[in-house]
Amino acid sequence: KVTAKFFYSTPLEVEKLIKPRKKFSHKGTFGHALLVSGSYGMMGAAILSARACMRSGVGKLTVHSIPSGLAIMQMLLPEAMYWETASGESDLFISTQYNIENIANKFQAVGIGPGLGVNIKIKESIEQLCELCAELSIPMVIDADALNNLSMDENRESLSKIPKNSILTPHPKEFQNLLNKSWKDDYEKLELLTQFAVNQGVIVCLKGANTAIALPDGTIHFNSSGNAGMAKAGSGDVLTGMILALLAQGYSPKEAAILGVYQHGLAGDKAAQNRGMNNMIASDIIENIRF
Ligand code: AMP
Ligand code: MG
Repeated sequence: KVTAKFFYSTPLEVEKLIKPRKKFSHKGTFGHALLVSGSYGMMGAAILSARACMRSGVGKLTVHSIPSGLAIMQMLLPEAMYWETASGESDLFISTQYNIENIANKFQAVGIGPGLGVNIKIKESIEQLCELCAELSIPMVIDADALNNLSMDENRESLSKIPKNSILTPHPKEFQNLLNKSWKDDYEKLELLTQFAVNQGVIVCLKGANTAIALPDGTIHFNSSGNAGMAKAGSGDVLTGMILALLAQGYSPKEAAILGVYQHGLAGDKAAQNRGMNNMIASDIIENIRF
């Protein structure tokens, strides 16, 4: 049985993590991120995630997604590059084979999940990418349908493919899928959360009001920012992009998780001030990212 130690991350502590942008720097200094996201009818998730990534300090971003997403992504986010998956397979996300040649020495961080869809082919691609990132020590943030795909088999075998120190960003339902069980109260939820982070050796950001960030060392760090206006489709996709940007810039997974979750909530708080909690949308969170 694991007993968690709890922390509450104060704004002052978190803001100290921000690295100043050096004068003699160039885009290479801030890393090249790879975002694997989107599918037919779910390109919005990829756009939100990609835009949030580019708004969070990264040097370069490549979005890997379906052929039919190319035009929309290049028009809505000309700052990002596009790597399209094998053509003729446009209705579902079926990956180009990931290999050393197309990943190594190219990307400093990989984000995967928003709007991917769930099927066996996608699952295999995700596992392939996980294994490659583990081998090459490329930090990962894993969200949404990437988590749902990894929860597909009954025995949870796919979970062993997740690289150590990866950041997982499930909402409660996605976390229950990963566990293959639910909890009776918040105490049990936090116990399960700690056990999962410790046993898998990963960081889990269990999202919601006061997102709980569980580290592999058995501690849980509660976030202080954010509001109920963020309880809306697309908010989580924004977070994935922000954390990806921080990882690509060389923030440690722990720093990227704590800082990313906090800045995401803070941007949401500014969006709520400007637009109101009922009226803000995920794009407004992106427009208010500032750190
Ligand atoms: P997702 O369900 O993947 O779109 O993620 C939702 C995002 O919105 C997460 O970052 C949550 O922390 C945030 N969020 C959802 N509901 C609330 C809430 N009631 N208070 C604060 N943040 C929330
Ligand atoms: Mg989500």
